[in-house]
Amino acid sequence: MRLRDYKVTIVGMGRTALALAELVRREGGAPFVTDAASGQRLEPFREELEKRGVPYECGGHTQAAFKDARYVIPSPGVSPHIEPIARAHDQGADLLGEMEFAWRHCRSRILAVTGTNGKTTTTALLRALLEAAGHSVLLAGNNDLPFSAAVLAEPAPAHIVLEVSSYQLEMARHFRPWIACVLNVSPDHLERHKSIEAYAKVKARIHARQRAGDIAVVNADDPWTRDMAIPEGVTTWPFSLAQPHEPGLWVDGDTIRAGNTAVAHRADTQLPGRHNLQNVLAALTMMRAGRFDWGKTIEALRDFRGVEHRIEHVADIAGVPFYNDSKSTNLESLKAALESFDAPVVLIAGGRGKGADYRTLRRLVGARVKALIVLGEDAPRLEQAYGDLAPTQRAADMDDAVARAAACAQPGDVVLLSPACASFDMYRDFEERGQVFKKCVVARAEASAPGLVEGQKR
Ligand code: ADP
Repeated sequence: MRLRDYKVTIVGMGRTALALAELVRREGGAPFVTDAASGQRLEPFREELEKRGVPYECGGHTQAAFKDARYVIPSPGVSPHIEPIARAHDQGADLLGEMEFAWRHCRSRILAVTGTNGKTTTTALLRALLEAAGHSVLLAGNNDLPFSAAVLAEPAPAHIVLEVSSYQLEMARHFRPWIACVLNVSPDHLERHKSIEAYAKVKARIHARQRAGDIAVVNADDPWTRDMAIPEGVTTWPFSLAQPHEPGLWVDGDTIRAGNTAVAHRADTQLPGRHNLQNVLAALTMMRAGRFDWGKTIEALRDFRGVEHRIEHVADIAGVPFYNDSKSTNLESLKAALESFDAPVVLIAGGRGKGADYRTLRRLVGARVKALIVLGEDAPRLEQAYGDLAPTQRAADMDDAVARAAACAQPGDVVLLSPACASFDMYRDFEERGQVFKKCVVARAEASAPGLVEGQKR
């Protein structure tokens, strides 16, 4: 699809818009960027657009911005339903999602992953496995590089691992990944979608345009993904934590099997928890379906230490491993984290609560938590909900929390920061909270065993 001087209006100014504008240019079109906001946030993007000679406006969407546009592309985060976009569409402009547009100009094979939970972990792992198997690969999508930027890369990578959101799938038309996987569907994001049926239907669009030669990797344990419509000719590779499936992978006790053949072991992954085993299985099934080097895949799996702030092992202090799960900002994540450990847990939790009823996890907390250290705005509510289940202490700040945890943990225990709360009462975001935690842990580990930490730091 050459753009032959077509005007392409990009709505929303940010990292993705910069990459999109460049891609439009590369393909022979004339980009124009418009943003309703003005102000400080846009400053670096305006500077960059000026440097590149891309016309733009901010502080509102004028009619001129959309006049004669052949295509209108909302940036991720901009609703395609806003009035100026709807009007441009009525006047004949074609409305495209960023993923759809980038895909039309993409020369790499796409391995696409969507799902309610586990996308970041699975795509990060998949990228590591592909790289280890000797292939050029870029990771793109929601959290990382905009897809348009990956498509711009020269030389084009052989593969792009793409984390796909429901929002991008809603606007997909011809998007056709080589290998596609819906990890799971659970009713977490129903604000946008009217029902779980409608939400699952959007997720299923990842397969809609696949054809003969393409591969659908399917979670056979999830009723919403198991029965998704797969076009004829597409090879289905199921995976399951429970039952054998051909030609996919399944978990039999501590063994991962293809049919009857053992192809990996649970001990080959350092990622804790059953939820991560699902992510590992999905990534391995994609590697197997794509016929990538299996020996190198397993070697790389053994080395993969997880994604930062998601039950990430930081260091050991006096024989006790400390885990950073700062990404845990709600009760579901705390639940997944607690279920990941058989060992007694010294739990550090708290922050800005979201009004959830902590008592719903009382059974799990009672069974797994050996000691509780609370901090932040919701410390009193956590104390109230769980204080009778385990010895509970209040910490003044993160360093104090780490000190208290180190003092009450013994070899055989684990220390887990899994706040179940937002971070904004004490930190800029969950990343900063995780960084502070890691610094405190590493400093203490260093002090207790100088020279040891570098090797075990993750
Ligand atoms: P996403 O990018 O989809 O948000 P992440 O890999 O960042 O997923 O994981 C976020 C959180 O979701 C984890 O901390 C964990 O609590 C939970 N999680 C991860 N993988 C799964 C899974 N396969 N099933 C259920 N929950 C999961």
